[in-house]
Order: sequence, then structure tokens, then C-alpha cells
Amino acid sequence: MELPNRQELEEQFAKKFGEVARRHGLEFARLLGEPPKLANIPQEFWDRMAEEMERESYAILLLIFSQSSYFHGWRGKEADLAASGYANLESKRLGQAWSTSSQTMFQKALDRFHRGTAGQQANHPTIDQHRRGNRVLTPGDADYDRIISQVFGPQRAAYNATNETTRTRSAGSEAAVEATFGLNEQDLWVNPRDGATCEICLPLVYQGRSVWTPHAPDGPPPPLSVCHCRCYISYLADRVRDGVDQLFPRWSAEERRRYFEHPETMRRVAI
Ligand SMILES: [Zn+2]
Repeated sequence: MELPNRQELEEQFAKKFGEVARRHGLEFARLLGEPPKLANIPQEFWDRMAEEMERESYAILLLIFSQSSYFHGWRGKEADLAASGYANLESKRLGQAWSTSSQTMFQKALDRFHRGTAGQQANHPTIDQHRRGNRVLTPGDADYDRIISQVFGPQRAAYNATNETTRTRSAGSEAAVEATFGLNEQDLWVNPRDGATCEICLPLVYQGRSVWTPHAPDGPPPPLSVCHCRCYISYLADRVRDGVDQLFPRWSAEERRRYFEHPETMRRVAI
């Protein structure tokens, strides 16, 4: 099931990502020099970028994993340990990936810019294109700002926040259901119909575990998806829980809580 506060968590993540990236962007532009060269950026900057992203994302990864595992019926010491273990590893991976892909993205954008201006020179250029063709990227230009913002701007931060929220929410729910009710073939892939389903997710929608696992072993998002994937797994465990709630509507919240704290009881209901 989707977390009731998913949007809020994602916004929190995007805000955090955005703030750190903006700060890095300002420093990056200062270091880049004129004409801008990637070689002017010291390795220390990239290392610090990875470390800061790691540090800033740790708490929110921990929060999303915990909320997801709690929401899917797993609490206690083991659940807490799983959450901190995940946040530890994933924040390292994320920090490193963010730093490496920032370098690659910037270099590619720079190459594209130079190729573009060279192309304009080669084909019958207008006078204006002639002027632009000989130009180097200069701080303050629209092109310069556009390239910096591709790498450090809020759009990229928001895109990554969506993916990381989905990935962490899936990790939390998969771990929770595995530890309690058990993973099941009837755990279905669901798309929230937010209009952003990509062609990788589309064939998985409403399919059972054996169909989606080869494409996305850890659940949504699939590793190769390019959409803002907000798909989630609808667990048999949750559907059983909903069924019990309907069967025993007069149960108090406390009675229900006691019942669901014993996964074996839930399993019996399912079978
Ligand atoms: Zn998706």
C-alpha cells in the first residue's frame, strides 16, 4: 500500500536535496573559472559533495524506511535495525552516485554546447550565429545558467527525491512483509495513475510477484525506469488486514493492534 503521507515525505526530500544542491551549485560556479573548465574543480569538492549528500539524506531515508515498515506491520528492534542499516548503505550509495553523475552531466552539457556552436559555424550561419559560434561559455549567459541549473537546479533534485522516496518506501515495505506475513505471489504492482507511468512500469501493473521481480527485484522503481515512478506494491498481507477490518468493524483500535501484532494470526486468516 502507499503511505498516506507519501507526498509530504517526497516534498521534504526534494526540499532537502534542493537546498544542498543549490549550495553546491553556487560554489561550483565560483570554482569553474572563466572560461569554465571542469578541470578547475578540485577532487576535494566532489568528495565533499558526496559526503554532504550522504549526511543530509541519511535522516530522511531512515524516516521513510521506518514509516514504511511500521505502516506494513513491522515494529520493534529488528525493524529499527533494518532501517538504520538501509539508511547507512543507501545514503553512501546516493551521495557517491550524486557526485559522480553531477560530473558526467556537466561534462556532457558542456560538450553539447561546444558541439552546438561548432555545428552552427559549419552550416551557413547567420551573422548572429557567427557571433555565437565563436563564443565560449561565459558566466552570466543564459546557456551558462541553463547548464548549471540542469545539474544543480530544483528539477533534478525533485526527480531524484521522487525516485529515492519510491525506492526507500519499497525497501521498507518489502522488508516488513518478508519479516511478518511473508512475501506472496499475489503481491501486486500498482500504478497510482498519476499520468507518469513509463513503458517499463506499464506491463508490470496489476501483475504478481513472479512477473515484476525479473524487472524490478527490489520493487518500484525498476532500475531502468525513466519516469517519476510512484508505483507501489499492494500486498496480500494488507488486503487480508483490510478484510479483517471489514469482518470485525466493531473492534477498537487497540483490539486491532493486538491482533495484527501476531503475524501468524494474519497468515492463518489468509490461508
Ligand atoms: Zn513506476
